[in-house]
Amino acid sequence: MSEYTMTIGGAAVAGGDTFDVLNPATNAVHGRAPECSRDELEAALSAAASAFPAWRADEAARREALSAAAKLVKEAAAELGAEITAEQGKPLREAKYEAMAGESWLGYFANLELPREVIQDDKRAFVEVVTRPLGVVAAITPWNFPVSSACTKIAPALAAGNTVVLKPSPFTPLATLRLGELLRSVFPPGVLNVVSGGDALGAQMTEHPAVRKITFTGSVATGKCVAAAAAPDLKRITLELGGNDPAILLDDAEVDAVADGIFWSSFANSGQICSAIKRVYVPESLHDALVDALADRARSAPVGPGTEKGSRLGPITTRPQFERVRELVEEAVAKGARAVAGGAPLDGPGNFFAPTVLAGVADGTRIVDEEQFGPALPVIAYRDLEDAVAAANGTHFGLDASVWSADPERAEAVAGRLECGTAWINTHLMQGPSQPFGGAKWSGIGVENGPWGLAGFYELQTRYRARG
Ligand code: NAD
Repeated sequence: MSEYTMTIGGAAVAGGDTFDVLNPATNAVHGRAPECSRDELEAALSAAASAFPAWRADEAARREALSAAAKLVKEAAAELGAEITAEQGKPLREAKYEAMAGESWLGYFANLELPREVIQDDKRAFVEVVTRPLGVVAAITPWNFPVSSACTKIAPALAAGNTVVLKPSPFTPLATLRLGELLRSVFPPGVLNVVSGGDALGAQMTEHPAVRKITFTGSVATGKCVAAAAAPDLKRITLELGGNDPAILLDDAEVDAVADGIFWSSFANSGQICSAIKRVYVPESLHDALVDALADRARSAPVGPGTEKGSRLGPITTRPQFERVRELVEEAVAKGARAVAGGAPLDGPGNFFAPTVLAGVADGTRIVDEEQFGPALPVIAYRDLEDAVAAANGTHFGLDASVWSADPERAEAVAGRLECGTAWINTHLMQGPSQPFGGAKWSGIGVENGPWGLAGFYELQTRYRARG
């Protein structure tokens, strides 16, 4: 049974109440997490506020601490990975890789320069533009990548000189609590606080006057609540929200060459990736070949507990999400779609769903229009590329998209017409700490990563020194 403590003001806090955390491969209780009380949240926010003046003042110390944090996360990657697999479900190898991604983000921001620019230096004035951190940052994460999402937020927030209160999803709090425990040795007390609890705790954080910035990753529906909670106080927000990424094949695409890339960009982490391919548009002439190629891969992909050797696709992390995927697949089939592979849950106590490829999906089907966030992929035939582009853009989502073709120039011309934050050509899901990532339309506000992501954690100050 995994039990970890919250980190508040550098100290371990077990909390009065706890809540159970399930293992999605078995639905048995795997661990318990503290239920953060209002007083404990107050203590975390006030510790973060108290730590802010010293932390913002010493950039060299921040870099050193972030580098040390990266090193610690690297050393603990196997331990963190095992905890991620137990609560989130992904295969151990990928879970360890997720922790290593955390290391990359911490290391990257430890070395990223904060901009400082002289814009005038003459006999009238010396004018410089510098950055100022915002203060206490509330960081709220979802359940699909608990550790890497946490590091994606805390690394730039702390590098810019802010202090943080971090709250993971109640479905996957354990690896993040452990991360907080590990990092107690590298950050001064109060700089990084980690609390755990339900959705109400997130709402309390976003409404709290001590918070000056909210960095949130999660669903569109919750993102809108966060924006509303931030508005009365004009808190700064970065929202990384849901996606319904289209992949468009052009008529010169070679099915054999693209099928692996499309399959794994859709089914990795059992489809529970904001930026996974969630619908595929294919010319009529290639439709059957692509459906067959994807269905072959779906039938042969090893599904099983993340701890099982050789397993490539784990369970769906939460029972509500499992039920949602089942409902969307059943609705599509009831409306005339064909489940060419999968189509139903797998036997057993865990949240396993057979990798599903749907053909002949009708317009207006929820699995095309909404974010399924699970191992089920609709393939939609098009006759005219203009219709595919219009369908790809005809949604409130705008996270990413990809275009697949033997001619990258032609693909890029199509990619340029897609309303999204990232457009890939002949690939999908490729991300890194230096590459800005964020959504257009309802998929988000602001970006993470690179100097652009760092800019979400500071404000500019113009310093004008008069001369003469
Ligand atoms: P969710 O919105 O239900 O929850 C996310 C977090 O918000 C959790 O920690 C939750 O406790 C908290 N929360 C819930 N209600 C809140 C409120 N009113 N105020 C403040 N916090 C609140 O999302 P989820 O189901 O955990 O995650 C899946 C979603 O996240 C999908 O839509 C997925 O696309 C999206 N996502 C987006 C990105 C991205 O970078 N764009 C990355 C990963 C996941």
